[in-house]
Amino acid sequence: MRFPKRALLDYILNLLLPVHCVHCHAPVQERRWGGACPECWSSLIRVEPPFCTKCGEPAPAIEGLCGLCIKGEHAFDFARSALLFTRTLRDIIHHLKYSDRVSLAKPLGDILKECLEREAFTGDLIIPVPLHRSRERQRGFNQAELIAERLGRPVAPRLLCRRKNTPSQTGLTRNERKRNLASAFQMRGEVKGRVIVVDDVYTTGSTMHEIARTLKRAGAERVEVLTVARVANEIYRADETDIAAGASITQ
Ligand SMILES: [Zn+2]
Ligand SMILES: [Zn+2]
Repeated sequence: MRFPKRALLDYILNLLLPVHCVHCHAPVQERRWGGACPECWSSLIRVEPPFCTKCGEPAPAIEGLCGLCIKGEHAFDFARSALLFTRTLRDIIHHLKYSDRVSLAKPLGDILKECLEREAFTGDLIIPVPLHRSRERQRGFNQAELIAERLGRPVAPRLLCRRKNTPSQTGLTRNERKRNLASAFQMRGEVKGRVIVVDDVYTTGSTMHEIARTLKRAGAERVEVLTVARVANEIYRADETDIAAGASITQ
């Protein structure tokens, strides 16, 4: 019997170093799935309309803009997320960030690429949300950068830097988050034209607001935002996503 090369390689690797799904702990036979099983990947929930035409916030009966966009609360011009922040996705992102399961960045990046191509993005330069230097040194990588590398467009990972090592924003109100983030980012060079800021999770949009302000002050004409996950607001929160309120989301 002949194995395709890839299957044979996976077979040998599974004998030597078996991989178990980060969410359901089932054995993962094919390495291309990273550290989660195909069932868990296919259980992820796409963000689908209806959502705010500007910031992409899902809401059951929204037409046009959400309340925050009507009030002009977001300095960015356009935002979309690929998936709702469900328990399964929380585990996948958590293991990517804190357990060095960097193989998870590939499938996440591929899901994000689909979203980038499907939605009306116009930017041509990708800027991953930076970590503070000390955090990146401690982790050894920036997850936003790993994901951004799968998008097939030019990436500028060092153009923007994080000056403040902001503590976890969990449990803070929008205004407290804003105050925490004021002057948190700084440019290391010039920027012009249209850019796409990429991150793993979009929570309240405060981080993206502050980044967009920084980029626009430095010359960006249009700032678009693309994230893997979207923490759904209370009206929308379904059973699977009810973790959102107490979820621990740090950089
Ligand atoms: Zn699984
Ligand atoms: Zn909106």
